[in-house]
Amino acid sequence: ESQTQELEDQRDALARSRRQLEAKTVELARESRYKSEFVANMSHELRTPLNALLIMSRLLAENRGRNLSDEQIRWAETIESSGKDLLALINDILDLSKIESGKMDLAREAVDPQAIAAKLGRAFQDQARVKGLQLSLEVAPDTPQIQTDPGRLEQVLRNFLSNALKFTDRGRVTLRVAPAGTGVAFSVADTGIGIDADQQQAVFEAFRQADGTISRKFGGTGLGLSISRQLADLLGGRITLESAKGRGSTFTLTLPEAPEGQGAAPAPLPAP
Ligand code: ADP
Repeated sequence: ESQTQELEDQRDALARSRRQLEAKTVELARESRYKSEFVANMSHELRTPLNALLIMSRLLAENRGRNLSDEQIRWAETIESSGKDLLALINDILDLSKIESGKMDLAREAVDPQAIAAKLGRAFQDQARVKGLQLSLEVAPDTPQIQTDPGRLEQVLRNFLSNALKFTDRGRVTLRVAPAGTGVAFSVADTGIGIDADQQQAVFEAFRQADGTISRKFGGTGLGLSISRQLADLLGGRITLESAKGRGSTFTLTLPEAPEGQGAAPAPLPAP
């Protein structure tokens, strides 16, 4: 009899901790939503004054009135470039908070991979030339169109390309586009410093760099790959990395023909 009592007591205690756990979970979910909303609003509010600062520093750097010294022009340029870094960081934080709070809205349009590759090739050509690197495009002729968000696709590829150029001092960077299953694989290969096998997971974590530190030895926000990987998930695709220390890296984004569950409308049934 006392055993039955003991069992009942234990059952009650269990039910109590379960209720507490549920309450805590609800509370945490609410707090996390508040936090994401706060960060989103904050990022938005920060951009307005920062844009004014960027415009004014540009005007100063252009020295329209011809009354600034070379030194003062350099100061204005430094203000502008730091402002741009800050804007990039704010935009990245805004993206992360949108992803976390499930508020990242994605477009879905027919996208021509060849056109995207050509546009990015043009956009990064100068940067490659300045570093003495060769930037080449290889687009397989049978690459199909896909349904995706072109802006977010470009964002991921820009991240790959700017990293490839940043971490390569000699050789070449190649953007390849080719069919993969019914979708498309976009890869950026470089002949740069490469990433140690044991760091290849970490580079996709926020604020991490491949040397395991969170210091920004190479500049950049350290958020690019973390955002890219989450965007790839949202687009129904994935990112893979092949690299060896000292031998370069290849980042590949594979996207499906169309996002899961919203593929092309099924063909109409034949008339009876
Ligand atoms: P960031 O470039 O702003 O630091 P990312 O998230 O884009 O942030 O990249 C994280 C880290 O991954 C980089 O700091 C670098 O250590 C490593 N990494 C990314 N791309 C490359 C590459 N192509 N070659 C070597 N290391 C890379």
